[in-house]
Amino acid sequence: MRLAIQYCPYCGEQDLRPRETPENAWECADCRSTFVVTGVAA
Ligand SMILES: [Zn+2]
Repeated sequence: MRLAIQYCPYCGEQDLRPRETPENAWECADCRSTFVVTGVAA
């Protein structure tokens, strides 16, 4: 399961790339920040 995120929490950029590890991690193509999306329960 992968959660969706639309905006980088650091710079607001929308060009996000999913990372294999850790789970639910995304990398911002603009500021190169990597962050994990948590706290979204279905
Ligand atoms: Zn960013």
